[in-house]
Amino acid sequence: MKRDHCQTWSPPQPSRTAKKGALATELREEIGQEVERLVTLLTPAGDGVGGLDLEVAELAIRAGMHRIGGSFLEKLLALDRGHRGPRVECGAGHEATFVNYREKYLTTVLAPVRVQRAYYHCADCHGGVVPRDDELRIAGSSLSPGVRRITARTGSQEPFAQASRDLADLAGITVPAKQVERVSEASGDRIRKAAENEWADLLAGTILPLPATPIPTLYVAVDGTGVPTVPAETEGRAGKGADGRAHTREIKLGCVFTQTKLDEDGRPVRDPDSTSYLATAESAETFGPMVYTEALRRGVQRARRVVILGDGARWIWNIAGEHFPNSIQVVDLYHAREHVGDLATLLFPTDPTERRQWREARVTELDRGDITTLLHQFRQVDCASGIADQVRKQISYFETNKTRMRYGEFRRMGIFVGSGVVEAGCRSLVHQRLKQSGMRWSLRGAQSVIWLRCHQAGGRWDEFWAAPKIA
Ligand SMILES: [Zn+2]
Repeated sequence: MKRDHCQTWSPPQPSRTAKKGALATELREEIGQEVERLVTLLTPAGDGVGGLDLEVAELAIRAGMHRIGGSFLEKLLALDRGHRGPRVECGAGHEATFVNYREKYLTTVLAPVRVQRAYYHCADCHGGVVPRDDELRIAGSSLSPGVRRITARTGSQEPFAQASRDLADLAGITVPAKQVERVSEASGDRIRKAAENEWADLLAGTILPLPATPIPTLYVAVDGTGVPTVPAETEGRAGKGADGRAHTREIKLGCVFTQTKLDEDGRPVRDPDSTSYLATAESAETFGPMVYTEALRRGVQRARRVVILGDGARWIWNIAGEHFPNSIQVVDLYHAREHVGDLATLLFPTDPTERRQWREARVTELDRGDITTLLHQFRQVDCASGIADQVRKQISYFETNKTRMRYGEFRRMGIFVGSGVVEAGCRSLVHQRLKQSGMRWSLRGAQSVIWLRCHQAGGRWDEFWAAPKIA
């Protein structure tokens, strides 16, 4: 074979095996030193009896192990400093030229580490390019992917300042509260983006819905709940506040779950781990297609029965009519019972016994789904002219939702008649984290944190963080 004498000369590189050997030797030495240090620090003086403070010892050993781990990580990172030749693609169609190696400090789950990466400059974009940062998923961040993952997790569970303290105490990692907030929001945004990409792929037919087998009954439950927001998010919006202004914005929450079995008493049982969640602060026009695509992902086209559960809100039934035209629509029985209670209070304001008897009789009719009798009974009661409008409004709720209240029939079909799953979702995914005293959210922040919580509740957390292409 002819040798190419024009090849540029480069200094001989140490072989892979030699590099590994050197790394192991260095590490062994550091471990030895750290162990020596810990032994000296923690071994009691004198006869060696007593004197050990267990808490001090365990935390000191953990810190020592983290230091060794950090050093190991730093050495691993130093094996490839990201030099990808004299020039690389800048990302905007130009070539960026290698300039030098630059340092950055990275907070990792072990210890802070120093990482050197090749820095390229694009003369056309007037910007820097660091290929290694993209490969390591640390571009624009001083936190490692592992730290970002646990930061987002704690930030989704508790107020950011508290999350910062917990990270320090539980994991020995320093992440200021403001950074917990930024990482949580950015992670929530990426989760939402990943969900949107997945929906786009589903609609394009490049990925297939779950599961491959037919689903007996698929439920879509939808509800709305208010989240307290900063004044800028409610400017010009009328609301129920004492000053007539809105102080909250509505978050729409959707759940998709399946049901295969009935219990011994013939009541429906939700399939374990079958619930997925999605949420938005946007309009019903935007939310409708989102809910539909999530249902598509979950196999709505293979479902023998599709049931939509909600309270009386008109936007819910508009979504049901438009996106799930062949579904069974069910108004939550417990909301309907509340409306009967409200009507009883209006019609019998002074006599509690009469009110209770009347209410119980109407609830029995409601539970049977006998809305014709119910409406007939409503109209038998004379009401004071001052409340006629309120009474008419209540009655119209039952007239409008008549076909969605065939509770007797629904029970015989073995399907759920309550939207408890989505209401519990509103409480646990939204209220518990976002409606604590003094909280005021930006819509973006609120949505991001809710998406983090939805993804965890839907059992997709690991899947998201394990997938580099979307994380
Ligand atoms: Zn460029």
